[in-house]
Amino acid sequence: MPERIDADVCVVGAGYAGLAAALGLHQGGKSVVVLEARPRVGGRIWTEHLSDGSAVDRGGAWLAPRHEAMLGLARDFGVSTYKTWVDGAHLLVDEGRMLRYRGLIPKISPLAVATIALAQARLDWTSKRVPLDAPWTARRARVWDSRSVASWLERSGIRTAIARDLFDMAVRGLFTGSLDETSYLHLLFLVRAHGSINRLFSIKGGAQENMMEGGAGLIATRIADSLGDAVRLAQPVGSITQHKDHVEVTATDVIVSARHAVVCVPPVLALEIAFDPILPPDRRALYTSAIAGPESKTLVVYDEPFWRTEGFSGQSAEPGSAAEVTLDASPASGKPGVIASFTFGHVAERVATLDEGERRRAVLDALTARFGACAASPVDFIETAWWTEPWTRGCSMAHFPPGVLTRYGPLLRQPFGRVHWAGTETSTRSHGAIDGAVLSGQRAAAEILGRT
Ligand SMILES: Cc1cc2nc3c(=O)[nH]c(=O)nc-3n(C[C@H](O)[C@H](O)[C@H](O)COP(=O)(O)OP(=O)(O)OC[C@H]3O[C@@H](n4cnc5c(N)ncnc54)[C@H](O)[C@@H]3O)c2cc1C
Repeated sequence: MPERIDADVCVVGAGYAGLAAALGLHQGGKSVVVLEARPRVGGRIWTEHLSDGSAVDRGGAWLAPRHEAMLGLARDFGVSTYKTWVDGAHLLVDEGRMLRYRGLIPKISPLAVATIALAQARLDWTSKRVPLDAPWTARRARVWDSRSVASWLERSGIRTAIARDLFDMAVRGLFTGSLDETSYLHLLFLVRAHGSINRLFSIKGGAQENMMEGGAGLIATRIADSLGDAVRLAQPVGSITQHKDHVEVTATDVIVSARHAVVCVPPVLALEIAFDPILPPDRRALYTSAIAGPESKTLVVYDEPFWRTEGFSGQSAEPGSAAEVTLDASPASGKPGVIASFTFGHVAERVATLDEGERRRAVLDALTARFGACAASPVDFIETAWWTEPWTRGCSMAHFPPGVLTRYGPLLRQPFGRVHWAGTETSTRSHGAIDGAVLSGQRAAAEILGRT
């Protein structure tokens, strides 16, 4: 017989959105139960401990200086941050040619650099006309939402093949799906939510500036610990039934009766919960369209970050390769040395068709060509194909195809009876990032605290 629990609020999902919602409600005096499908908290944040005890992040890892909600939680839960390693030369591989550079812009032709800068400036300028809380109300929202990011890229004026490949890869890294299937309005909204396109791409002053000591999952673990028995792991929620004055949330071994529920799962997974009454067709259409694409993150671990002594930062790019983008993701102590290597969208899918040994060889060959022979012999090699994770299904966030935001966007945060919604996909500021997840959970908690 499943255990029956009464609470003020039942939170579904213990990623950062769910945990922030539960914490806010608990601090607001409400009793909470959090039901999490996985046997761990953190969701798209997944910190693993190596045999020497050091923490590495298989999922989200970095925080921008503006990620104040998450930085606030870091302070509250005693977790320090440190700067991502950036010293040394970055590398861009263009048809086998190795271009070393420092700062933001690779040494491609001055024309290519100028056209990228112009396209970025135009994007930033246009994004300022997108209202953060309601992008679908922008004066030109319909026009922008009828275009895809791919069609914008085609007409962006970016010259030379490598400049286009580089920009395409960077944008593919943000959305991971096909750029044909992503609305230009969503790109503008994302840029607005983070301040500028360069902030999204940058380490210094940007989205990759800070890492967390002990891993990005440490704060999640500490929040869950502070909530004690309220967090129930390995409890996938199968149904949510709404009654006049309460909801009943059913998981494998637990049935929670609560005045409200907060659903904090990726949009596509909300469709797998049986709602009674059923979700209206427009909301189903929203969640069916909000797709997150393929992304793989591979952690290649060495005894030490040998590339630093060779004069490399660890940052490199080779669009279309088995290691499209790499970053130094070593712990603050600098030991072990960790390279985080990413592939996105169709490239991630193509690399995934190789068998395990071939994939390892392809990644190590790419790293050896860039950083030298030491790269061939890692002590650990940890792959995560996020789109195959049953409780995530795609990364790093859902993207909206043309037409979806203007038709269904207003539903993103609109409660459905006693059911409230959170998750990074519902956030405005820091949309798509860990900070956005935290802000969305805090917003959902405030909605309920203001109502009950
Ligand atoms: C490879 C990768 C790299 C990234 N890098 C960064 C980065 O460096 N910086 C950054 O800011 N962001 C990054 N992100 C994005 C960031 O991880 C997400 O924005 C954020 O973690 C989303 O949090 P969330 O709580 O909204 O959703 P999730 O973390 O997905 O949490 C949802 C939770 O709901 C659970 N769940 C699903 N269905 C059910 C159900 N039926 N019943 C119960 N529980 C359920 C899931 O198991 C999960 O724990 C990255 C993501 C990935 C995958």
